[in-house]
Amino acid sequence: MLADDDFLRDVEEAPAGALHLWWVGQSGFLVKVEGHYLLFDPYLSDSLTAKYEGTEIPHVRMTRRVVDPVRLDFVDVVTSSHGHTDHLDAETLRPLRPRALVCPIGVRELAAERAGVDPHGVGVDERIDVAGFRFMAVHADHESEGGAVGFVVDCGPWTLYHSGDTTAYAGLGERLRSFAPDVAILPINGNLGNMDGRDAARVAKKAQAELAVPCHFEMFEFNTASPDEFVAECATLCQPYRVLRAGERLTLTPP
Ligand SMILES: [Zn+2]
Repeated sequence: MLADDDFLRDVEEAPAGALHLWWVGQSGFLVKVEGHYLLFDPYLSDSLTAKYEGTEIPHVRMTRRVVDPVRLDFVDVVTSSHGHTDHLDAETLRPLRPRALVCPIGVRELAAERAGVDPHGVGVDERIDVAGFRFMAVHADHESEGGAVGFVVDCGPWTLYHSGDTTAYAGLGERLRSFAPDVAILPINGNLGNMDGRDAARVAKKAQAELAVPCHFEMFEFNTASPDEFVAECATLCQPYRVLRAGERLTLTPP
């Protein structure tokens, strides 16, 4: 896996004329497009490992941290899909000091507290333009105070869907299809209010996503899943997919 200096070199050298996407662990993805940077749901600390140490649910990390958030000061906008710490982490956001933060409207106060910035709150089915990216909040079915959303983001000619945490609720795939996503990023842990790999493949297929990318695994030992089921279902459905490792880059050429 790429990390630290090697990771940042890869980010810096990734050329214009394409969209680049790196998995930075759990639901965290860094996007680079034409010199603009977007960071989805970063969790780049050990805050949960520390919080749950000695409890019945120790959060033992499986993958090392990709990069120190203090080194991501070039990012133009950060998202938080909901208020759970693996998606809204003070120990990531405080050092990162986001120039802009987009979150569900009901999470604004918590996000302001954890990130130390004034966030842009978005309601479900609302749009907002921030830092050259257009965000559309899509309902997420996930128990979390203040609500949970996914984001469909227009990045130049590309459209990405980042689900946040959600089940594969009825109508999600059809809703996404109207946005013609180039990439659908979906959880596969099948636990704690998230869909499993098979459902993630099915949602991507229903959404007619050009590419499905799994996430929310290989972060904590107690809450992970092998991507095998996701891969097998994608193969059955003829759904194109790509399984990234932490720190790895995916590059999309213009659609
Ligand atoms: Zn989560």
